[in-house]
Amino acid sequence: MCGFCPPSAGWRSQAKGKSFNIPTWSFPMEKFRGTILHHPPSHCFDNSVESIKADLTEKLFSMRAKFPEVATLNDYYLALSYVVRDRVLHRWIHSAHTYFQQASRTVVYLSAEYLMGPQLGNNILNLGIRKQVEQAVAEMGLSLEDLLEQEEEPGLGNGGLGRLAACYLDSLATLQIPAFGYGIRYEFGIFDQQIKDGWQVEVTDRWLRLGNPWEVPHPERRYEVRFGGHTEAGYDAQGRYRVRWVPERSVMGTPFDTPVLGYGVGNAIILRLWQAEARESFDFQAFNLGNYYKAVDDKVMSENITKVLYPNDEPEAGRRLRLEQQYFFVACSLADMLRIFFQRDTDLDRLPDKFVVQLNDTHPAVAVAEMMRLLIDDNGLEWDRAWKITTGVFAYTNHTLLPEALETWNVDLFGKVLPRHLEIIYEINHRFLMEVNRFFPGDAGRLSRMSLFSEAGEKRVRMANLACVGSRAINGVAALHTDLLKQTVLKDFHELWPEKFSNKTNGVTPRRFMALANPGLADLITQSIGATWLRDMDRLKGLEPFARDNAFRDQWAEVKHQCKVRLAAMIRKKTGMAVDPDTLFDIQVKRIHEYKRQHLNVLNIITHYRRLKQGLDMDAPARTFIFGGKAAPGYVLAKLMIRLITGVADVVNHDPDINGRIKVVFYPDFNVKNAQHIYPAADLSEQISTAGKEASGTGNMKFALNGALTIGTLDGANVEICQAVGPENFFLFGLTADQVAATRQAGYRPCDVYDGNEELRAAMGMISGGLFSGGDPGMFAPLIDSLLNEDRFMVLADYAAYVQCQEQVGRAFLKPDHWHAMSILNVARMGMFSSDRSIAEYCRDIWHVEPVPVVVPDETCDID
Ligand SMILES: *Cc1c(COP(=O)(O)O)cnc(C)c1O
Repeated sequence: MCGFCPPSAGWRSQAKGKSFNIPTWSFPMEKFRGTILHHPPSHCFDNSVESIKADLTEKLFSMRAKFPEVATLNDYYLALSYVVRDRVLHRWIHSAHTYFQQASRTVVYLSAEYLMGPQLGNNILNLGIRKQVEQAVAEMGLSLEDLLEQEEEPGLGNGGLGRLAACYLDSLATLQIPAFGYGIRYEFGIFDQQIKDGWQVEVTDRWLRLGNPWEVPHPERRYEVRFGGHTEAGYDAQGRYRVRWVPERSVMGTPFDTPVLGYGVGNAIILRLWQAEARESFDFQAFNLGNYYKAVDDKVMSENITKVLYPNDEPEAGRRLRLEQQYFFVACSLADMLRIFFQRDTDLDRLPDKFVVQLNDTHPAVAVAEMMRLLIDDNGLEWDRAWKITTGVFAYTNHTLLPEALETWNVDLFGKVLPRHLEIIYEINHRFLMEVNRFFPGDAGRLSRMSLFSEAGEKRVRMANLACVGSRAINGVAALHTDLLKQTVLKDFHELWPEKFSNKTNGVTPRRFMALANPGLADLITQSIGATWLRDMDRLKGLEPFARDNAFRDQWAEVKHQCKVRLAAMIRKKTGMAVDPDTLFDIQVKRIHEYKRQHLNVLNIITHYRRLKQGLDMDAPARTFIFGGKAAPGYVLAKLMIRLITGVADVVNHDPDINGRIKVVFYPDFNVKNAQHIYPAADLSEQISTAGKEASGTGNMKFALNGALTIGTLDGANVEICQAVGPENFFLFGLTADQVAATRQAGYRPCDVYDGNEELRAAMGMISGGLFSGGDPGMFAPLIDSLLNEDRFMVLADYAAYVQCQEQVGRAFLKPDHWHAMSILNVARMGMFSSDRSIAEYCRDIWHVEPVPVVVPDETCDID
């Protein structure tokens, strides 16, 4: 029996008992120092139940120093994680070796956020060892479900953008693309949300407290990152003009690697997150001078850089530390990329053949300037040559249309933190504006709009403009979003470089959000159309005929019911509330934001409540309205929206007249781990943002892939979802993006809508009268005032259409056969929203990369 192979067994194939040929390369061997020359060990991992049990006990000793009688559930979670991690690393080692050998073009994904979700369950799924692990732990008197529940959420992101990055890593691995994800190892991720007296309370997310078994630190691969100071210009020995950056201070970046497995393939890729550390634990000079506290301060200051994730999905104006975070991870990542490049090549002109760097929003956009600095200052290239390389490497994804969400930095602050980069950006801007002027001579307005600096008010660096100028490809994240980008925020760039633009509609991974989150549904689908759909989602089309099959519809309904029973149990555990799984589960989970319009949902609930109190709508189905989502701590109106939801819940849930016909739940601490229970249990998915404001949305996809029907506006990817599933299987309402703009143009007056709608007046009156705030009429005044005076997001304009559409939903739910047929057709037609499709499009149109299959000796990676 083999629990783990000692290294001495390595460098040979266990199965074949012979060494592999050492591959030969056509480049100098000295470049390989410190890299793998031999084939990595083929491991004798045995995935039988007996072996897994033995390995688990062994890990309990070797990694936890515990014997079974004293081991806690968390010890067992950790031990099982190490058992699984060995098998994951086995695939990674073979992948790394294969990628190294092939040296084909590699994708570098730069993202300040990754919302990975728990790792144990997903790795077990992708290794294809779920049944064995389940049985092994059961025979040891444990339940896999309890062990999975132990894992902390690695909450290194705010919401959709971070989760997209995680889905894309899953698909990159599954599509066998050589890739690295680079980001920041925040010591504290997104805060944990508690609800106290109906209000959101933020609690520090100490996710590393009990250890993180999935990461492998590499302190031997640290990079130095410099900050502040000034620059000095001069001429080098060859008489060339050179600039030297004399920084004020520097910190070290240490990488922590987390492997990410593909599904049904041998490939694994790496998520490499950087942690900031002091250069030396103590500044000995300061120490010797007796300034012990300065030495300690410096250490604390350095480590602050990766201390905490900013909990806002919009930019943090003027936060120096946030800029330092961005530059810190960009500098480490590009240095690491160049290290890998120089392992096999010397000619930097070939860098774009070997790497493509995708900027996930503008958070890493300073990479454009850093790349120029590395090429010019550190490697002595001329500007034009460096610029050609730089613009051959980068591609940029835009994620927002909200003007306030476009990132800019005060020039003085930027220059204090990154003096050399500011100079480089000025030079890029100078050359760029000359080019613009050649295309559009004398167009001063255009020059000022396209400049990398905004001069209105205080001078600021525009990161989106920098990303556009430095990239060879620019994309939006849904068809509507890309169209609107071309018409609005990036209009001038589109007119200059139409060929750079393309759309890449977001997607989500069906592994985590179907197979793992909803095994009942996944099994039913597999029984009907075979197992290949999980890697080839177009095959879901095969479900269409089953929509007319009564027996299948009943099984479908039963799966949904079981998911609702499970969620009801979770709700009971988290909130103490009892909800009835036979009611319509109407769910809105996402960050709390005015543009996402949770308050529109609430206005409908209040309207429905009032009608029931009046004895109207008595034939409507009983509904459970479930909300979840975090508000940015400084976002007063969003926090007030949470308070409004909990206030309405308090009244409605306890009103004897209602008698359970409406229940309202706020599910605390929405995150990926909870999401895996929530999406599968929805009958109705709320996607009700103001048209033109949600770039894409991905929650909409996760719901629909789990058989929820959508009530939604024509916004973001809703447009494409509605088209794919058919408008007859989608509850569409509200103004279109064009109509929103036109209504605004025509001088929209929300109070006119208010005056003209009796039910709306009544609902808002119930809020402002204090019914949902314990009699306090002032509590929600800011919310009511913002709706009546400005209503930036057209809540009142869409209210009547929304309420009416919700009535239709209620009627449809009363015909279960038809409802479930629609649900099946939704899933059958949602295949294009797999992140595999998104990534395949990036590969084909932007990255121009090819799959590199990884063969893992002695292992079959095929799942079916
Ligand atoms: C998918 C997801 C989101 C994004 O949801 P949207 O509805 O697209 O805003 C946010 N948070 C978590 C935890 C998610 O899983």
